[in-house]
Amino acid sequence: MSLELRNLRKVYGDTPVLDDVSLSMSDREFIAFLGPSGSGKSTLLRIIAGLETADAGEVVLDGRRIDQLHPGARDVAMVFQAYALYPHMTVRENMAFGLRNARVPQAEIDARIAQAAAVLEIESQLDKKPAQMSGGQRQRVAIGRAIVKHPKLFLFDEPLSNLDAALRTRTRVELAQLRRRVDAAIIMVTHDQAEAMTLADRIVVMNDRRIQQIGAPMDIYTRPANSFVARFVGSPA
Ligand code: ADP
Ligand code: MG
Repeated sequence: MSLELRNLRKVYGDTPVLDDVSLSMSDREFIAFLGPSGSGKSTLLRIIAGLETADAGEVVLDGRRIDQLHPGARDVAMVFQAYALYPHMTVRENMAFGLRNARVPQAEIDARIAQAAAVLEIESQLDKKPAQMSGGQRQRVAIGRAIVKHPKLFLFDEPLSNLDAALRTRTRVELAQLRRRVDAAIIMVTHDQAEAMTLADRIVVMNDRRIQQIGAPMDIYTRPANSFVARFVGSPA
């Protein structure tokens, strides 16, 4: 897997929200995005996933431009902060839904759901509806729904922010293991610096529509590229 974001630009009305954003990502890498609210992090993930269109620039996955493709054809799966599960469907149906639309054969759907449920330890939950589950269980279902797509790239938009502290810690460990069990790269937006520092191979700090710095967690912390990054990650002065 390789991902290239090339000079992405996005404007909503008169308001620029992404300005010349470029990034190269390699196989199985885990990248965390940090930045204040409104700095364009969710917009960037939505552009990669195909839920928004950039006004300029390219998204290239494994050498192929995907920015004009339908979201379902991109080999990318996004997990939202609010999980966005279908309330009237069981867990199994929630996980199968996107695959049915993609005309994956039923036997293959069943096999993928069984595998994802085992990874996430939700085998006993498959016939429940979201309302019958805890926040943490729902969060795993949302991840499961992404896993069954067998994407090359997972996009997580603040996936842990609705969880209590204990569950966050547990889920954090699970996310670290996820990459070893599924063969994919991960981009995660988080507002939790500790989470980014412990999970990510590299951190991207965003502010004011632009990438301020890309680097290993320790580099960001000990060698901030500018005063914004230094203040934001609380580096020693
Ligand atoms: P972040 O995820 O870093 O908090 P967002 O990508 O959600 O930032 O938002 C970046 C900016 O774009 C914000 O100023 C936000 O108000 C604006 N924005 C986001 N989505 C839309 C939209 N659909 N229409 C208009 N403005 C939007
Ligand atoms: Mg956001």
